[in-house]
Amino acid sequence: QAKAAGRNRYFGFDAKLDSKAYQRFVLMSELDRALAGQEFLLFYQPRVELESTSVKGVEALIRWRHPQHGFIPPGEFIPLAEETGFIATLGEWVLWEACRQAKEWAEEESLFLRVAVNVAAQQFWDPGFVSMVRRTLQETGLEAQWLELEITESALMSDQERMVNVLSELRELGVYVSIDDFGTGYSSLSYLKRFKVNTLKIDRSFIQDLPDDLEDAAITTTIITLARSLGLQVTAEGAERSEQVEFLRMQGCDSIQGYYYGKPMPPDELLAFMRNQQA
Ligand code: C2E
Ligand code: MG
Ligand code: MG
Ligand code: MG
Repeated sequence: QAKAAGRNRYFGFDAKLDSKAYQRFVLMSELDRALAGQEFLLFYQPRVELESTSVKGVEALIRWRHPQHGFIPPGEFIPLAEETGFIATLGEWVLWEACRQAKEWAEEESLFLRVAVNVAAQQFWDPGFVSMVRRTLQETGLEAQWLELEITESALMSDQERMVNVLSELRELGVYVSIDDFGTGYSSLSYLKRFKVNTLKIDRSFIQDLPDDLEDAAITTTIITLARSLGLQVTAEGAERSEQVEFLRMQGCDSIQGYYYGKPMPPDELLAFMRNQQA
């Protein structure tokens, strides 16, 4: 009996592994079809400037509305798209759609928002990246100043010389650049004086236990001070409660993106949200 139970356990375990690997495989092979079938869409999360308490920008966050599985969060398929290389195609679509949407808001609703787009490491290091961005701005008619590119700290580190070049080309183009998930990626900060970026986005992991967690409070305060003294803007990600917002305001944080002000939402909801704000 013990043997049978053991065998069952073994098979149970194996079957689970199999189904997980299988699920990954299925999702991977479906990415192509999903893009063609318009199953991807962008949600937008407001970023609120604390001084004026007004929404100055939004971050575009991809969603997959799967015909069988419902909404699949980006954490589950972006890594797969990176593994297969499909992120290049998907990332181009995201950039195009976000620029198109920002242009439409400006044109049809007189709503001027800077739209932030996440850029995967693979995209950023592609030799054609800057010209792809330039072409997308031209084709959608969006002015460069309304686009912000978010690159994670860890994606930046592999080749500092090239990095400096790509970033200054983007700066010349007139787009904004921010470092996403700041504080989680790298230990040396010396790159910050060479890299021409506009904004540091403090990772949510440092924000979620504020203000009680003294270590997180110290780290957050230090990042804000660092940004100030380097002349950079600083945004806190993931504030959900008023104590967090108050703490960040007192420390001199410039803006906040978090559920406290608004979750990521589809374009029509964002419009309603903005109208509400103005009223
Ligand atoms: P990220 O760029 O750091 O985006 C912020 C994430 O934090 C979003 O998760 C957002 O919904 C979540 N968030 C914001 N405020 C709060 C809050 O107050 N509480 C909580 N619990 N969460 C909050 P999301 O949309 O699931 O995206 C996860 C990650 O997937 C993103 O992290 C980004 O790295 C990646 N991602 C999303 N869209 C794209 C895309 O179009 N391209 C690429 N390459 N990556 C993307
Ligand atoms: Mg981001
Ligand atoms: Mg982030
Ligand atoms: Mg993140």
